[in-house]
Amino acid sequence: MPRYCAVKLCKNRGGTPSKENKRISFYPFPLQDEVRLQIWVDNMKREEWTPSRHQYLCSEHFTEDCFDLRWGIRYLKHTAFPTIFPHTHNVSRQTPLL
Ligand SMILES: [Zn+2]
Repeated sequence: MPRYCAVKLCKNRGGTPSKENKRISFYPFPLQDEVRLQIWVDNMKREEWTPSRHQYLCSEHFTEDCFDLRWGIRYLKHTAFPTIFPHTHNVSRQTPLL
């Protein structure tokens, strides 16, 4: 089953390279950690919504310092939360077309 991003305005899907040919990774929600999960959901501006364990966020929503790079694989730090979304333009690296 292909992974896709739970962010509504995000079009990233597993197996499809993004515009700049950046590698997209998908990360599951921290369902075991209620406090952190709440931050993720709050940042997504989706209230009254609980992600399932089949939903993911793509790496586009995390700043570089959210990742640990080991052997060429990006691991999401246990303290990381997503801050980059299509509706937030302050840290966005997206083009204005989006
Ligand atoms: Zn995404």
